[in-house]
Amino acid sequence: MAWPRSPSMTVFRLLVAAATFLFLGSAAARPSLAVNVIAPVETSIGRPFLVFVSSKRPLEEVVIFWEGKEIPLAVERSGQTSEAMTLLGTDVGSSKPGAKTLEVRSSVGGKPVSVTRQVNVRHVDFPVQKLSLPQEMVDPPREVLERIARERKETARALSTFTRSRVWAIPFVRPVPGKITSPYGFRRILNDQPRAPHRGVDYRAAEGDPVRAAADGTVVLSAEHYYAGQCIYLDHGGGVVSVYMHLSSRFAEEGETLSAGDIIGLAGRSGRVTGPHLHFGLSLQGMMVDPEPLLES
Ligand SMILES: [Zn+2]
Repeated sequence: MAWPRSPSMTVFRLLVAAATFLFLGSAAARPSLAVNVIAPVETSIGRPFLVFVSSKRPLEEVVIFWEGKEIPLAVERSGQTSEAMTLLGTDVGSSKPGAKTLEVRSSVGGKPVSVTRQVNVRHVDFPVQKLSLPQEMVDPPREVLERIARERKETARALSTFTRSRVWAIPFVRPVPGKITSPYGFRRILNDQPRAPHRGVDYRAAEGDPVRAAADGTVVLSAEHYYAGQCIYLDHGGGVVSVYMHLSSRFAEEGETLSAGDIIGLAGRSGRVTGPHLHFGLSLQGMMVDPEPLLES
């Protein structure tokens, strides 16, 4: 099942799709004035979810408030019906579990409308992964610290890209067919030193295997970084950015527009890794989520 990009999506189809492969709990759809908001009542740390806003009357502006972020949505109209959607989540690196408030602000016929939903974000006891690496791979040499700081800024810029019009569609294309070798959320201990949790997924891939774009998008960063090696960041609109690391070759230049499934490069072992694999990350509004629930099966 594919979720189309056209504004013809009905609430019914969305509910079916949501029940099929996104939400742990049931989706809540309570009408409030003229604006319907569908969001999960329960999710877990790092798990992405969809929020769907619709009205039979024209919505003039839709803004979502979530995790301290203000996210303007593109409103798609067909006749009198208005629809808007966004992908949200939490980040294993920075989010806390608990009951959180999702607020949708809109205006209908010049009147402001606010709809709130409670989303319970459950704690996940992610497994611990202990790795022993040569100490120089754990502690970067002094002469590369400046490079790492520069690359961190480049990465932050790419991840904070926000273009309002959505070009992503669900399910996302699986960038490589391989099995997961290191899942999202793994708490890594390198040479007995606790490190930041794994904010993406590692997939088995041999050197030279093609890596595909997860969705339509524009290349916002194509570079060689100290940790990530040869890496590509794609902006899919609406605050959705996908990340591909440790490539052996890159076929996509910054500014280039790509279609879902296009080969953007070849898998490899560039950067600080112990063997060839693809590290795939997905940023939603700057929060790194587990991409796996959104990928085609
Ligand atoms: Zn990884």
